[in-house]
Amino acid sequence: MAKPKSLILSMEITTAGHKHGCRHNRRKHLLAKGDRRLTILSENHHYCLACAKTFLTNDIGRLQKLLTEVEALEQTRVSKNEISQN
Ligand SMILES: [Zn+2]
Repeated sequence: MAKPKSLILSMEITTAGHKHGCRHNRRKHLLAKGDRRLTILSENHHYCLACAKTFLTNDIGRLQKLLTEVEALEQTRVSKNEISQN
């Protein structure tokens, strides 16, 4: 069986090995050595937890909206099939 495909970038929570800036705002969002951060694995981009929370919340909202649309379309298709059978 085919592995379910994911549409989301691979990411995980990692620990900063040295002091650096968040990818979203390098100057203001500073990460110290040992700070936890969100890492986008394919790009090796790191974001502070505040940015991570904002992005994840927005993305979950977008995904939820798309899922609702897909489910609504599925419902429409089902009702059309029911009508054609009658
Ligand atoms: Zn940030």
